[in-house]
Amino acid sequence: MSRKVVGVDLGGTKLLAGVVDDQLEVHDRVHRMVTGMSDKGVTEAIVESVQELLERNPDVHAAGFGIPCLIDQRQGTAVMCVNLPLVDVPFRDVMSERLGIPVFIDNDANVTTLAEARFGAAKGAQHVVGLTIGTGIGGGLLLGGKLYRGFAGGGAELGHMVIDQDGPRCQGACPNNGCLEAFASGSAIGREGTEAAEQEPDSELGRAAAAGEEITGEMVTQLALAGDELARMVVGQVGRRLGVGLANFVNMFNPEVIVIGGGAMAAGDLLLEPARVEMKARALRPNRDQVRVVAARFGSDAGMLGAGVLALDELGVPAPDEA
Ligand SMILES: [Zn+2]
Repeated sequence: MSRKVVGVDLGGTKLLAGVVDDQLEVHDRVHRMVTGMSDKGVTEAIVESVQELLERNPDVHAAGFGIPCLIDQRQGTAVMCVNLPLVDVPFRDVMSERLGIPVFIDNDANVTTLAEARFGAAKGAQHVVGLTIGTGIGGGLLLGGKLYRGFAGGGAELGHMVIDQDGPRCQGACPNNGCLEAFASGSAIGREGTEAAEQEPDSELGRAAAAGEEITGEMVTQLALAGDELARMVVGQVGRRLGVGLANFVNMFNPEVIVIGGGAMAAGDLLLEPARVEMKARALRPNRDQVRVVAARFGSDAGMLGAGVLALDELGVPAPDEA
């Protein structure tokens, strides 16, 4: 008999909840917008969505939540969120009481790392560094087969590793500058693309900027994939900076696999290959020769699946290869 849980990916603009079994098959799903809501509004939207799933699927045992916030696992609260009004809400206890099932919460990048390690591109590995590269860079660490969360749950903020103390200002609530996130996120690809457009007004990027178009990471990536030289150079430059960060992680954690997902991975090897080359040139032996740098298996469902895997993991349900 398969065990079923609900996995909830709570983003800044929408939530995706799904019923997931221990083979990671999705049986049912609910999608809802949460933009511009108060903390009460968001809480009610989550409760309604999960209850809807529970009514249709009475054999669900628990719910897992992936939240784009720093989590305090001792209190079950979100301590710092960039895009959600959930700070200081005793989220885990409120949800558990309202839903009537065990609830587990974690940072979204932690749960996607867990999903990749149990079922995805890092399947079977016990030492995994996970990065989610989108607007920012989320990080997750699986060490010795377990998620590493630090003292209270706020660890593994890998995107905020400084790779140049005089680098550009970091984003959001981060007071730092020169973080990996400032150099190698999707936003950084857009920023570098904007600079390249100014320097090369006769390029595709230059003409797009002159026509008043905003140069985004997505646009640069699409141009690079279509073979545009300048866009490829920009993505390659960002990839090399990503590799500087990877070299640090390889030296620190000696991972078997570094798995990289998120929207920026649309660039694929245009981003990853320069990152691998830079990492190899900078990291110590033998660590650098023991690690694989791979693209994530899960795309836009990664957060929901990861939240489901978190709940399965906490319930003690073994992953398929361990059963
Ligand atoms: Zn930062």
